[in-house]
Amino acid sequence: MVSRFDVVEQGPPIEVFQLNKLFLDDPNQVKVNLTVGAYRDENGKPWVLPVVRSMEQQLAADKTLLHEYLPVLGLEKFTTAATSMLLGADNPVLASGRAFGIQTLSGTGGLRIGAEFLNKHLKYTTFYYSEPTWENHHLVFVNSGFTNPRKYRYWNPKTCAINFDGLIEDLKSAPENSVIILHACAHNPTGIDPTHEQWEKIADVMEERKLFPFFDSAYQGFASGDLDRDAWAVRYFVQRGFELVCAQSFAKNFGLYNERVGNLTMVVKDAASAAPIKSQMTWVVRGMYSNPPAHGAHIVAQVLSNKETFDQWRGHIKMMADRVNDMRQALRAELIKLNTPGNWDHIVNQIGLFSYTGLTQQQCEYLMAEKHIYLLKSGRINVCGLNPSNVQYVARAMNDAVTN
Ligand code: PMP
Repeated sequence: MVSRFDVVEQGPPIEVFQLNKLFLDDPNQVKVNLTVGAYRDENGKPWVLPVVRSMEQQLAADKTLLHEYLPVLGLEKFTTAATSMLLGADNPVLASGRAFGIQTLSGTGGLRIGAEFLNKHLKYTTFYYSEPTWENHHLVFVNSGFTNPRKYRYWNPKTCAINFDGLIEDLKSAPENSVIILHACAHNPTGIDPTHEQWEKIADVMEERKLFPFFDSAYQGFASGDLDRDAWAVRYFVQRGFELVCAQSFAKNFGLYNERVGNLTMVVKDAASAAPIKSQMTWVVRGMYSNPPAHGAHIVAQVLSNKETFDQWRGHIKMMADRVNDMRQALRAELIKLNTPGNWDHIVNQIGLFSYTGLTQQQCEYLMAEKHIYLLKSGRINVCGLNPSNVQYVARAMNDAVTN
């Protein structure tokens, strides 16, 4: 009997996971992994935040914690804490009931249910994502029912900086009610964020053109080490009176990658909209995964709601952000020492986990094949894959790639 599954064709690989596997399979000792967007310590090892570890021990000993289902929209203590972390505890939209959170399956899940809700209930069909962007935005929005994907310009390869004129021009020509995906901070993959003045202009155009802001906040606190600074753009849009949604991920800033902890913050004009929105969101979630997991949400809720653990955690994110910045400085310094052709200032001007190095695809392929250094073919590197033991090797290899 032939199998009915014979019709299924092999799908394309996901670049970042494929490269990670090539790295793991590479027997060469000098190999360096600059692919996956996850924090690595000075020894190149994953890091469980000490405050997370001790909270887990505390939770494990807590006999009142059961494995009962969470409500469909999640653990309220968590969603309240997450929403307030994003907007600032004293934001008037919280007191007036105009902002609330929905627990999601990490940042991706927040994008997914947010997009499905906007498509189903507001009938939005056009979305814009930056060129380049995190490679999953397109797929998540198309799978949520959006039929008209569009790009706005973001990166200028000549200057290794933002293409602000292109961005504004593209937003100005966007049809009304287009959903604009905006990286709240630490733009992935370029590491370049708009300045405050540029955000103000973006807001002006979006208001004038009646565009809907969908923020993606995957790096709050992780980017600069300062929670408020990393939330500036979202808070600015809220203060301007925009209605918006924001998908928050706790993967990076808590190191809870596989626990899938996320929150979709929604800000609306009229507090009376909150109840109907939540009731409809309940059905979006119910039909997708019924209700979210509890473990990571308990950890984040507990850490954020206790002054001592909150301060401890803030120390951790500052330390991670500082280490990333030290490695940016070190890589640039080594390239300068080697007289590597080109200007490498962008490496230290970018923020967050990633640097868009400006290396060509050919140079990236050379680094992988000849030097056992794994990075995305767009030239994106995870800066914390660098450490004091490998940064000189990577700089020399980049120098060879550029001069060869
Ligand atoms: N958005 C951006 C821009 C990201 O970089 C990531 C993580 N790579 C995410 C969303 C979502 O990640 P997660 O679902 O793991 O929270």
